[in-house]
Amino acid sequence: MSASPWLALALGIALAAGAAVVLGAITLRMSGHYLPLATIAWGLALNYTMANMEWLGKYDGILGIPTLKILGYDTGSGRGLHVLIWVFALLAALACVHLLDSRPGRAIRSLKSGATMAEAMGISTFRAKLTVFVIAAILAAVSGWLFAFFQRTVNPSPFSIAKGIEYLFMVVLGGVGHVWGAFLGAGVVRLLEDQLQKLLPALIGTSGSFETIVFGVILVVVLKYAPDGLWSFVARWIPRADRVRDWEGAAPLPAREKPAAGELLLQVQAVRKEFGGLVAVNDISFDLRAGEIVGLIGPNGAGKSTTFNLVTGVLSLTSGKVRYRGEDIAGLPSRAIARRGISRTFQHVKMIPEMTVLENVALGGYLRGKSGTLKAMLRLDRAEEKRLFAEAERQLARIGMADRMHELAGNLALGPQRLMEIARALCTDPALLLLDEPAAGLRHKEKQALGDVLRQLKGEGMSLLLVEHDMDFVMGLTDRIVVMEFGTHLMEGTPAEVQASPKVRAAYLGTEH
Ligand code: ADP
Ligand code: MG
Repeated sequence: MSASPWLALALGIALAAGAAVVLGAITLRMSGHYLPLATIAWGLALNYTMANMEWLGKYDGILGIPTLKILGYDTGSGRGLHVLIWVFALLAALACVHLLDSRPGRAIRSLKSGATMAEAMGISTFRAKLTVFVIAAILAAVSGWLFAFFQRTVNPSPFSIAKGIEYLFMVVLGGVGHVWGAFLGAGVVRLLEDQLQKLLPALIGTSGSFETIVFGVILVVVLKYAPDGLWSFVARWIPRADRVRDWEGAAPLPAREKPAAGELLLQVQAVRKEFGGLVAVNDISFDLRAGEIVGLIGPNGAGKSTTFNLVTGVLSLTSGKVRYRGEDIAGLPSRAIARRGISRTFQHVKMIPEMTVLENVALGGYLRGKSGTLKAMLRLDRAEEKRLFAEAERQLARIGMADRMHELAGNLALGPQRLMEIARALCTDPALLLLDEPAAGLRHKEKQALGDVLRQLKGEGMSLLLVEHDMDFVMGLTDRIVVMEFGTHLMEGTPAEVQASPKVRAAYLGTEH
């Protein structure tokens, strides 16, 4: 190491990043509590492995590490090294802050709200998780490198499972998802630990690691009363500034070539979905041509949303085929379907409540941008960000919500949240738009405005598949309507034909025919 500390740093980062890619690829597909358990297991396994390697000095580790010299200046192990550690810590924090406010960063933040929506926007949630895993590994490598010069020796004991738990505690206490929360959490834990180690033996009369018990109690209290961590209390005093609107005149994002009017766009062919014994969708077939608005209606539980999920790859089919522009898309992951130009909204709004309306909508533009993690960390992605936000604002303006773009999405009422989802779907530049009950929760005026927007979209050549409960809304809007009941295809026809059908009336009134 004395040869070149910088070579050691590069090697350490490469080793850690490589290991993270391998471990992540194996582990990150696990869900729920299996993932943390698996990472704990890796930690234990690697710790024991290293501690038993002869050439690494076993439990004694590597001794006699020299001090770090930078351009001839010896950082020593006092003030000089502390300054250096702070420089690294702040640079890392800045890179993370930059990342979180970017195209890949929004993808990472969307992981918190589950995978379905992110995947529907074309995001590979696995890749986003792996990115986070590798970044964490690189930061750990840099920390270990600094730690070696601080201690002048490296051995396995400080890297035990207990340390891992302590870091987790710092993050949870400070606030998961807040970069500065990690600093706050680390500071509080360190100071508290020092004080408790002095205070507790005096109080109890014997010495021992009693601070662990106090930390346990604190963790329970924090998780119960401040699940967002201590940083959320600090953040309350920092006024949230609106994003500077610097994207005026930004070049438009690339747009896809749209299918010609009348082209056979979507063919749903005898699709079937069984949940155990329940046949939720029973061999449903219908077509949709470019430029059409087709309505999918039916009583509650008829299988409309399930049909949507089959078309968009959220659920796997039991049997049947879905063709988009002639290509069989059944079985493709939903992000691959999104890439082909099908976008959707959800009956139960899926969004990132702690992001602004504008950022939520910009998430829809994910596939139309290219900036990656490194570019974002270095802030070399700003030109593309402007284009993304210009597009997001344009789509918000289209549905009449541009004036609310800086609000937090979680603060909106249900109606505006639904509109925001439509703007997000439009931001993907779809050729086919699937809307699941877009008018639910809207007031009369808002419904009319939404109807106008959808008509305008149709006028521009957009194709729409619409699930709706509000009969009047679909009647005035659709070219054709498919009626479902108990998973089956009840009838298909023009709005007038459907309205006149005694079968449909019976289905809706719940009477036997
Ligand atoms: P709709 O959207 O027409 O109201 P859905 O497609 O949501 O109806 O549901 C159709 C049927 O499938 C319902 O009986 C519902 O309970 C059932 N269902 C939907 N999703 C699931 C699931 N993930 N697991 C089990 N049953 C489901
Ligand atoms: Mg539904």
